[in-house]
Amino acid sequence: MDENRYQIDLLNAINEKLDIECNMYRAVVDTSTSAFLYYSFEEDRFQTLGDWNHYFETAVQSKKDLSLLYQEIDESFLPAIKELFFIDQTEVDSSEQVFKKRDSDLWIRCSVNVSHASDGKPSEKVIRFEDISKQKKQNDEMAYMAYYDYMTNMYNRNHFVQTLMEWVSRAEAESAIVSVAFIDIDDFKKINDGMGILEGDELLQAFGSFLSELCEDDDRIICGHFDSDLFCIAIYNPSGKRSISAIYDEIRERNKRPFRLSKEEVSISVSVGVAEYPEAAKTALELIGFAQIMMYQAKESGKSEIRYFDTPVINQFVRSTNIENRLKLAAANNELVLHYQPQYEAGTGRLRGVEALVRWRYEGDKLMYPGEFIPIAERSNLIIDIGDWVMDKALSMLATWQKEYDEDFTMSINISPIQFKRDDFVRKLLRLLSIYDVNPAGIELELTETVLADDLEAASKKMDALCRHGIQFAIDDFGTGYSSLSYLSGLPVHTIKVDKSFVDSIARSDPGTIIIESIVHMVNKLGYKTVAEGVERQEQYDYLNDIGCGYIQGFLLDRPMSEEQIDVLLKKRV
Ligand code: C2E
Ligand code: CA
Ligand code: CA
Repeated sequence: MDENRYQIDLLNAINEKLDIECNMYRAVVDTSTSAFLYYSFEEDRFQTLGDWNHYFETAVQSKKDLSLLYQEIDESFLPAIKELFFIDQTEVDSSEQVFKKRDSDLWIRCSVNVSHASDGKPSEKVIRFEDISKQKKQNDEMAYMAYYDYMTNMYNRNHFVQTLMEWVSRAEAESAIVSVAFIDIDDFKKINDGMGILEGDELLQAFGSFLSELCEDDDRIICGHFDSDLFCIAIYNPSGKRSISAIYDEIRERNKRPFRLSKEEVSISVSVGVAEYPEAAKTALELIGFAQIMMYQAKESGKSEIRYFDTPVINQFVRSTNIENRLKLAAANNELVLHYQPQYEAGTGRLRGVEALVRWRYEGDKLMYPGEFIPIAERSNLIIDIGDWVMDKALSMLATWQKEYDEDFTMSINISPIQFKRDDFVRKLLRLLSIYDVNPAGIELELTETVLADDLEAASKKMDALCRHGIQFAIDDFGTGYSSLSYLSGLPVHTIKVDKSFVDSIARSDPGTIIIESIVHMVNKLGYKTVAEGVERQEQYDYLNDIGCGYIQGFLLDRPMSEEQIDVLLKKRV
């Protein structure tokens, strides 16, 4: 009796435990986002569990239902899936396969587990289905993004460079040519700023898809979108219509019409640089780099142009870049020096003052002249540091000379347009005046006509502000630009410097002689002082003196010299 009671209790306990476990497993399976197909080898019975309806419409209960299930699977994956479903060999315990549901975006990972009885025979099989559509989409997007530019659907830089590398090595084997063109939309930043980023992107998409169409259906042309408004095209073995020049013609033709964007129409032009394998370079990166440099050259010579690889241009560019890099530290490292070229009153020969001319002492003892490094500095904003240094040095020098000798002495300082256009120019200069306690009447700033032509109103305001403090202005290189005296009226200009090219023409029965004569007459009549620069010969001096040119500067009288040499001149003058 007790024994029976014990047996019953035990069975109840076991049943209860089984119930609990069963409920637990069911809960796990039911809340799972996976679906399961269970198969018992012994009973030859199927059962579906988990979130089956998310995956399939067919409710599988027996083997014959499987054929209906197969119809729900994309055909291309069927053979592999069927194979997976029938795994029951003892040696394979688990395996998995990814497939796509037929006519749907559902991607499913399917894994099989087979368990075996003690005699080694397969007893049960569980096939698990997991929805991996989201991961799959992310992976696809990432793979896409690794090779394509999202905005334009064109090759991205990596993909372009990779393909170009393959082409270059193939071209080496096949003695072929590979052309690379670097394309940049002119003034894109202005366009972008003007209409907003979204419209800017739209323009890039529109231009990108136009380029893509040009390159379509030809696996020997690729085009890529690098960043911003930079596009690149490469052609394997170019010829005829499949050449950079033909494509450039098509681009120009297209650009005659505006691009229609959602809010407005925009007209563009492009600058293009070209380099070819093997003539220009032997590697993909060099080709792209040289094409880019040539594109910059096209921009510099006025934009909307195509420039083909040219060794001297590249060499000059490399040299400029080198200079630019070293120039960055020139002001900070005290490598700049000022030389001073005297200006004399014609006739009397009295010293009027000097023009401060900057030089760069680099690599210890070498001297570079401003004609070489100022244009480079102006392109990269380094001119601001250099200009600040020059003003500082020139004003402190002037203060010293004013104190030591007499105050009737002019220091002419060259001001770059970039420097003058800065908002803080006036403030900086006034600050130096008070630091060095210099008499502003001795300061003459040399501006070129371009500064005035660009924004006459802004220039005039600054000039007036400085003029109120007693600072004077000269127009440099007069005659090379607009050569119009009319727009100078109303500006506080005191001196006109007649450009050396006119002085050069003197006494060569050159029509320039007549021009210089009329310039000097007109300038005098309007009440400006005239300084003729670059006077090298006595006959020039005499002629200038005869026609009434007030002051003379040039190698004939003095070359630019050190501050010590100017000291000597000033001592003699006193
Ligand atoms: P610039 O203002 O026209 O200066 C006159 C240039 O002509 C100087 O060259 C001077 O040495 C040279 N020169 C003077 N007399 C003669 C002559 O009789 N014959 C010949 N062949 N040349 C003569 P430099 O010093 O090489 O300066 C070149 C240019 O660099 C200057 O032309 C000026 O535009 C610029 N520059 C010089 N210093 C500065 C500066 O501190 N700041 C800025 N922004 N530009 C500067
Ligand atoms: Ca000058
Ligand atoms: Ca000049």
